[in-house]
Amino acid sequence: MYSSFEQELTKIKEEGRYRPLTVWDSAPGTWMTLNGRKILQMSSNNYLGLTGHPEMKEAARQALERYGAGSGSVRTITGTLDIHDQLEEELAKFKGTPATLVFQSGFTANLGILGSILSDQDLVISDELNHASIIDGIRLTKAKRSIYAHKDLNQLEAILQTSGSYRRKVVVTDGVFSMDGDIAPLPGIVGLAEKYGAIVYVDDAHASGVLGRNGKGSTDHFSLHGRVHIQVGTLSKAVGAVGGYMAGEQVLKDYLIHKARPFLFSTSQPPSVAAACLAAIRILQRSEDLIERLWANATYFRMSLKQMGFDTGSSETPIIPVIIGDPKRTMQFSDRMLQEGIFAQGIVYPTVPMDKGRVRFIVTALHTMEDLQFALDRLQKAGRDFGLI
Ligand SMILES: *Cc1c(COP(=O)(O)O)cnc(C)c1O
Repeated sequence: MYSSFEQELTKIKEEGRYRPLTVWDSAPGTWMTLNGRKILQMSSNNYLGLTGHPEMKEAARQALERYGAGSGSVRTITGTLDIHDQLEEELAKFKGTPATLVFQSGFTANLGILGSILSDQDLVISDELNHASIIDGIRLTKAKRSIYAHKDLNQLEAILQTSGSYRRKVVVTDGVFSMDGDIAPLPGIVGLAEKYGAIVYVDDAHASGVLGRNGKGSTDHFSLHGRVHIQVGTLSKAVGAVGGYMAGEQVLKDYLIHKARPFLFSTSQPPSVAAACLAAIRILQRSEDLIERLWANATYFRMSLKQMGFDTGSSETPIIPVIIGDPKRTMQFSDRMLQEGIFAQGIVYPTVPMDKGRVRFIVTALHTMEDLQFALDRLQKAGRDFGLI
C-alpha cells in the first residue's frame, strides 16, 4: 500500500530536496533554541515580533476565558461571534475599505475568493511568481488563464489587448513577492486594468504590517485607494497570529459570504485568535515605531551585504535573498549558516529556477544591531569560503 509513496520520497531524496522538519524548542523570536542550541532566527515572517506581544497575549487570554477554545462552527452558522465582527470592522477602518471578510488563513482566503469570483466565462491573468495559494485558487476554477512574465507590464498589456470578451477579467499579483522580496508594479497594473476594464486583485501577505502607512499594505504604499478592487491580507505573518482577509467593497463581502467555500465549510478562527488579531491591528494603528525599525534594519542589512559583494537580487523589502545559484551549493551555504548559529532557509529548484538558488534572509524589527552584525560577520566569512564575494 505504501510503496508508491516511498518511491516518490526516494525521488525527492535523490534530488536533494528531502528536508525533515526543524523542530524549535522555544517561542518564536530573534534567538530561538534548536536542540538546546541558541540560533539567530532569520527566516521567520514574524516581521514586527508581534507573536509574543504582551497586549496580544492578554487579549487572547481574555477571549479564551470569555469564549473558550474554539468557535464551534463555520461563520455562516454559529461561528460568527461578536469578536469576529469587531475584528472585521476595525480591519476595514484600518485598511480604509468599506468592508473586510476574515478567513482562517491567507491560503484559504485566496482559495475562497479566487474559487468563487472566477468561472468559465472569465479570464484570470497572473504574475508567474505568484504564491502557491493563488495558483491553487485559480486551479479550482474553469476560468481561462494567462500567465505574464514577472512584473512585465508590456506582456500584461499585450494579454489584456488581445483578450476576447469575458464577463470578468481579473489581474492577480502578490504585493510583495516572497522569494525575491521585490514589490509589484501596482500603479502600472492599476493603470492597465483601468484602461482595459479589468479587476485588480493584490495579495498583500508579505506587505500586511510591512508596507504602507502603519503597515496598511501595497495599495496604501502607492496611494491607490479605491482603485484596487480586491486586497487580500494575512494575519499570520507581521500581524503575528493566524488568519487572512479580503478588504474591498461591501458587495464583495456579501458575495463571498454566500460563495467562498472555505468560509462556508470550514470552522472560523478561534475567538482567542480573532482577539489577538484585533489587538495587533490596534498596535499597528497606534504607532509606526516597529515598522520604522523593521525598514531601518532591512536597509542596513541589504546595503551591508551589497557592499560585501553579495547578490541580493531585486530585493527592496525585509525579504533579502543571497543568490548563490546551484541548488546543492545553496543548501550547503544554508547548512554552513546553521553551523555558524544562524537559521536562513535555502530555497532551490523547483521553487526558484535551477540557476537561482538562494539563501533567504528575513530581517525583523526585533533584530538588534548586534544580531545583524553577528549575521553579517559570519556571512562575510562563509561568502569568502564559498567564493561568492
Ligand atoms: C504566506 C502567504 C499566503 C498564505 O498566508 P497564510 O495566512 O500563512 O495562510 C498567501 N499569499 C502569499 C503571497 C503568501 O506569502
